[in-house]
Amino acid sequence: MISEEEARKKILETVRSLPSRRLSLSQALGCFAAEDYFARLPLPGFDNSAMDGYAVVASSCARGKRLRVTGEQPAGRDKQLHVSPGEAVRIFTGAPMPQSADAIVMQEDVTRDGDEIVINTGVTAGEFIRRRGCDLSEGQRILAKGERIRAATIALLASQGIDDLTVGGEVNAAILSTGDELVKPGEKPDPGQIYESNSALLRGLVHRCGAAVNLVEHCRDERGSLSKAIKRGMKNHILVITGGVSVGEHDLVKDALRDLGAQIDIWRVAIKPGKPFLFGRMQQRPSPQSSQRSARSRSREADTMAPGKGAVASSDCCFIFGLPGNPVSAFVTFLQFVRPAILKMMGAINLDLQQLPARLTVDLTNQGDRAHYIRGKLDHGRFTPVGRQESHALFGLSQSNALLRLDLGQSLKADQIVAVQIWD
Ligand code: AMP
Ligand code: MG
Repeated sequence: MISEEEARKKILETVRSLPSRRLSLSQALGCFAAEDYFARLPLPGFDNSAMDGYAVVASSCARGKRLRVTGEQPAGRDKQLHVSPGEAVRIFTGAPMPQSADAIVMQEDVTRDGDEIVINTGVTAGEFIRRRGCDLSEGQRILAKGERIRAATIALLASQGIDDLTVGGEVNAAILSTGDELVKPGEKPDPGQIYESNSALLRGLVHRCGAAVNLVEHCRDERGSLSKAIKRGMKNHILVITGGVSVGEHDLVKDALRDLGAQIDIWRVAIKPGKPFLFGRMQQRPSPQSSQRSARSRSREADTMAPGKGAVASSDCCFIFGLPGNPVSAFVTFLQFVRPAILKMMGAINLDLQQLPARLTVDLTNQGDRAHYIRGKLDHGRFTPVGRQESHALFGLSQSNALLRLDLGQSLKADQIVAVQIWD
């Protein structure tokens, strides 16, 4: 049995980033930038009005003062107007500032009287003007290689006139659940059977990483069908198997993988829940479909990556994650081992779950020989364990939003500040 840290290190040394690809902006949400992006334009691009109102020369304004309205400047067309002291130009939000104007008076602060306005407020130079470049300077980095592309990132790129970009590769995943005792939701369980829920869990988790789920299958604990299902799953970049990785007579996954020629790098990790976790890989001859895909990827790679530092071969290797069947074990091992691997393959820099400080509400001790992940609720900065801390206890998991890692032998006291991992 190896430590959680060793397991994670081994996994992250083994998986590689997939070749980058070019996507339209609208498709890039949730992907990771494959290169740095810099501002081509300052933001705002020109001095403009922050309000509907009047452009004025501040020194010629005072409460009760009358100004002559000499023109109108809408947004979208620069009429190159000029304002002299004692004059005002009607102006709208986003419209370019007239020359010599140094303030905007909000329309709510004036009384319009034919061709004139009466100012009902004091006016200070610079008021309600959005200055060129005050938000973003030309040449400033707007997106770093490996950073997640979020809705606001897309908006920023769009504001630069960018309509496509280079992102990390797409990870295709297969999910295989195993176990004679399991039936699909919608079917009728016989006495002793239970509903299969891990594939729904894993599908959601894989999606949340930004990877594509290509195949979801269930398989009985029977060697022949397991081998066939594994073979189908191995056509993807990753295969996530649940159940059947422990030490019982019905735990056939490890042997089935070995028979198929897979290399098993890790089996059993000092983590609770999740001890029987398995990680391996299968180098495969590319199928016609995948060789087409890799040819495409390779040409994209040639387009987008510097020679020699390309992400290689990952597209022809399947990484296999065997997660224990207990739902909480599957959840914890997914977050600690599968998630960072997927993110690395997608080109992410930050592979860690977000950590937040929290005040612990109870005493906790780990007397076991494995790092223990406590499921709990982070609420207003306080962390409280929820539900039964057992690996089958799905309800407690469903009520939690954070994990607290207790190291071997670690004792924590109520009111202590701890770092918790959040996934929601
Ligand atoms: P295993 O790892 O196959 O020994 O399974 C451990 C426990 O998890 C058993 O109680 C199984 O019934 C349960 N289990 C395994 N796979 C699933 C699944 N896909 N959905 C729900 N429970 C499961
Ligand atoms: Mg089983």
